[in-house]
Amino acid sequence: MTGTGATLRTSLLWFTRDLRLHDNPALQAALREGGQVVALYVLDDATAGRWAPGGAHRWWLHQSLTALARDLCARGGALVLRRGDTVQQIGALIEETGAASLHVGQPHEPWARRLVDAVEATARTRGVALHRHRTMLLFEPDALRTRAGGGFGVYTPFARACLARGVHEDPLPAPAHIPCPAPPPSDCLADWGLLPRSPDWAGGLRATWQPGEAGAARRLDQFIGAGLPGYAEARDRPGEDATSMLSPHLHWGEMPPGKAWREASCAGGHGLHRFLAEVLWREFCAHLLWHRPELPEAPLQERFAAMPWRRDPAGLRAWQRGRTGIPIVDAGMRQLWHIGWQHNRVRMIAASFLTKHLLIDWRDGEAWFWDTLVDGDLASNAAGWQWVAGSGADPAPFFRIFNPVLQGKKFDPEGRYVRRWVPELAALPDRFLHAPWELPAEVLEAAGVRLGRTYPRPVVDLAAGRRRALAAFEALGRTAA
Ligand SMILES: Cc1cc2nc3c(=O)[nH]c(=O)nc-3n(C[C@H](O)[C@H](O)[C@H](O)COP(=O)(O)OP(=O)(O)OC[C@H]3O[C@@H](n4cnc5c(N)ncnc54)[C@H](O)[C@@H]3O)c2cc1C
Repeated sequence: MTGTGATLRTSLLWFTRDLRLHDNPALQAALREGGQVVALYVLDDATAGRWAPGGAHRWWLHQSLTALARDLCARGGALVLRRGDTVQQIGALIEETGAASLHVGQPHEPWARRLVDAVEATARTRGVALHRHRTMLLFEPDALRTRAGGGFGVYTPFARACLARGVHEDPLPAPAHIPCPAPPPSDCLADWGLLPRSPDWAGGLRATWQPGEAGAARRLDQFIGAGLPGYAEARDRPGEDATSMLSPHLHWGEMPPGKAWREASCAGGHGLHRFLAEVLWREFCAHLLWHRPELPEAPLQERFAAMPWRRDPAGLRAWQRGRTGIPIVDAGMRQLWHIGWQHNRVRMIAASFLTKHLLIDWRDGEAWFWDTLVDGDLASNAAGWQWVAGSGADPAPFFRIFNPVLQGKKFDPEGRYVRRWVPELAALPDRFLHAPWELPAEVLEAAGVRLGRTYPRPVVDLAAGRRRALAAFEALGRTAA
């Protein structure tokens, strides 16, 4: 209420995966209505179902919401937290605040799209209009289509279409003031139990990340200053910390892709083209999910539905724990476990090892990544797994099977990455670091390594695993024929 007794119009701003105040068109639109803004986040695990935030996501979400609430508060706003059925919670909040409008970023995940539709319907019954904004992507998925009118299934023409349109993202600074009524009741974030307690496995996450807008901006600045110039050459070498590590900030919307695009483009230089191409991979995956909503659950190439995946709980567990006996795979899986992130080259190697050498269903790998990645993203994760497994829209062919020893030697030639994450192998000579089983026992012993005791023997013979995978693939071809 104003001092004169007139009621100010209230707008609800529903945050989902766009946890930021700058470059946020939904926030700007809510403010343009000229009244007060009630900002809201709803934790609704039941509606998200299988794709509710995983363990590492929950840690990030807690930190990011803390940062967002602080940033809102510093501008006179507040963040209302509610848990439970989103449709009911937003319906109730409309009643409590008398809101006249509702603003939200348009998601591309199938369950979240259905949810926004359901919220729109409930808001409409109360006479409230829901407004959707593009807060997570560079382009509206429906705005980019092939000549035939469908969505793009192949990256290169997609990227060409994006570049032809051009990315024109003017900066939208965070507002200095966010007018807010006395906020309605809110849950206490600590009561949501998002942080791991016993055990507290988040030490490596805390040491690595600063969730929230400020952390995202810092990460981008650092990358533009130090990483971007050499990105094109070094991005495939996991021992060099040469990539931006922006993926969780992009996933949670603390950094919109438009800002990364704009600021990297201003800096320019040798690595720029390659970096923008990667940002477009993220965009491509999101558009793919929009047009092919089955992407996270089913192979896009139907013949892969008959793939004779093996059930191998021991192999899966060894992979998850970084105890396969293949150093580059184990290094990657331990990096993932400790910091909630894994280098892209190693994601490809680890995923290839699981789906080909172990012949385990890509969906098992996808689920583990979902639970352990801070950047776990329905579109990029599913597309990445299907790309490696050979079943995707524009995949690596199944028969192209990464040899993890050669990959290790090529991309981690001095063994920096393996030594960092598999310290029990640190004293091995570089030449044999990626294949310790090839060394005579006395050399292993001199380096303090006892296979089967201090470090596992390989869970699969690489040549035999490769043959088995190719045979399964060939059988698939015969079935389809
Ligand atoms: C099996 C598998 C699973 C993956 N799961 C995810 C996931 O859940 N979430 C996720 O964000 N990425 C995923 N990726 C893609 C990629 O590995 C990560 O985006 C990248 O490692 C993030 O590191 P960065 O921020 O340093 O990337 P940079 O090299 O600095 O690239 C900049 C940005 O471009 C985007 N990007 C880069 N490579 C890819 C790619 N191949 N696909 C889609 N976007 C890309 C990311 O948003 C990234 O932050 C997966 C890849 C594979 C092979």
